[in-house]
Amino acid sequence: MTAVKAYAAQNATTPLAPFIFERRDPLPTDVQIEILYCGVCHSDVHQVRNEWGGSIYPMVPGHEIVGRVTKVGGEVKNFTVGDLAGVGCFVDSCRTCPSCLANEEQYCDTGMVGTYNGRDKEGNPTYGGYSTRIVVDEKYCLHISEALPIEGVAPLLCAGITTYSPLRHWKIGKGHKVAVVGLGGLGHMAVKFAASFGADVTVLSTSKSKEQDALNLGAHHFAVTTDPETMKNLQGHFDFILSTISARHDYNPYLNLLTLNGTMVVVGVPPQPSVVNAFSLIGKRRSIAGSLIGGIKETQEMLDYCAENGIVSDVEVIKASEVNEAYERMLKGDVRYRFVIDIASLK
Ligand code: NAP
Ligand code: ZN
Ligand code: ZN
Repeated sequence: MTAVKAYAAQNATTPLAPFIFERRDPLPTDVQIEILYCGVCHSDVHQVRNEWGGSIYPMVPGHEIVGRVTKVGGEVKNFTVGDLAGVGCFVDSCRTCPSCLANEEQYCDTGMVGTYNGRDKEGNPTYGGYSTRIVVDEKYCLHISEALPIEGVAPLLCAGITTYSPLRHWKIGKGHKVAVVGLGGLGHMAVKFAASFGADVTVLSTSKSKEQDALNLGAHHFAVTTDPETMKNLQGHFDFILSTISARHDYNPYLNLLTLNGTMVVVGVPPQPSVVNAFSLIGKRRSIAGSLIGGIKETQEMLDYCAENGIVSDVEVIKASEVNEAYERMLKGDVRYRFVIDIASLK
């Protein structure tokens, strides 16, 4: 066991603060990673503040992790000391259920083991990437290209795969009119991927001030959702909507923007439910669906796609001590477009 420096929440209401805990030494199939950068996801805020219920404290958040391998177990085959490696939202799963066998471990029948706020197979709490080191079975580690700036790669491990996966699953590309709702961490990656896949992309936002950014990120159009006239004009317009909204809202006005047979995929997880009106669906045979991150195989495919196409997240690098302020700014929609912690600031 070795002591690791971290930032942790001790409960749902006090600020995150320095914390020291022990990590295991690498087991035969483990990779030990010195963390360099860790992204700040809105799910960190939801869980730190126990907005979804069931939070485990102390909590070391962070599931957008990039670092360098410093030790490997005797049976590790795919990583060597000195490699860049990434860890996303989960660090284990049952490995035998139909979802795990289909490379979709995020839908594991017994539940994936979250990178933090989870429990490993021995029942010990898991601690995430707001820390200097992590030890993970190589099966749940990703290969990271040396070609891209790694602070911009870190958010791909959650914001990237969470938007890439549904766009691929619903085969979005040329000829599709796509709306991305909410221009934050997930939303800005959704714009980059949907545009890169050839779709006609519109950002639907509550923030007029993000218009130029949306276009710079690759969107073709921008609309402010608080304007009733705009929402009326866009009714029946989109083949596919990806909703990344993090806070309580009504799903119906967005569903009404779908064309015949259109689909809205929800990836944002507001703590409160929304009532869906049957009339929002039946009149144009619309669908509403959800999607959770992506499996290890698809995450690697996404990372390789980003390396080939020069896609990274637009980030603001912060010190660990600035994370509480970053949460407040994220809640105000004041993030362009992902905070990433420089883990050197913890040492
Ligand atoms: P974020 O950076 O805070 O972005 C969320 C965006 O939603 C904001 O920038 C804002 O965009 C919009 N928004 C916020 N409140 C709104 C409201 N009341 N009405 C309408 N729009 C609102 O958060 P994120 O990190 O992208 O995460 C977004 C959500 O996805 C969170 O709930 C997170 O937990 C969830 N998530 C899900 C998965 C998954 O696997 N499904 C994975 C990761 C995260 P505008 O300013 O453009 O309106
Ligand atoms: Zn996340
Ligand atoms: Zn499983």
